[in-house]
Amino acid sequence: MTLMLGPMPETVRATVRRLIESAGEPFVESDRRFVGFVLWGGPGGCDIIDADGEVWSSCAWSGTTEHVPDGPRKVGAVAIAADREPGLALWLPQRPPSASDCGVCGGVGSWPQMNGVQCPECVGLGWLPELPVQCPGG
Ligand SMILES: [Zn+2]
Repeated sequence: MTLMLGPMPETVRATVRRLIESAGEPFVESDRRFVGFVLWGGPGGCDIIDADGEVWSSCAWSGTTEHVPDGPRKVGAVAIAADREPGLALWLPQRPPSASDCGVCGGVGSWPQMNGVQCPECVGLGWLPELPVQCPGG
């Protein structure tokens, strides 16, 4: 099972629209005007979500912006922002009953000893989907 967000629910779409509108200055890319909400960012770049729920990764060093396809990377970007914007958490994958606590972060989703850096193993969710079924003899 791969972690994915799927289509953005209507309630989350409303949250994203509000966040973009309240962000004030739109995020501006070098070659075009890009309107979105910054999910998280640092000196090296940031991840931005647009009103359609597409996530874009902007690299400050190269000045480029790349589309982030649905998958663990996108889940992680939204999970980081969901910490301060709970409306986004509705979009995150629900923990299935078969999931186990992430052993790397102890189920917390981040590493407090490293300034709360997001756990790369569980992309901030604190749990891991069930392991793929092993083929007998494989
Ligand atoms: Zn973890």
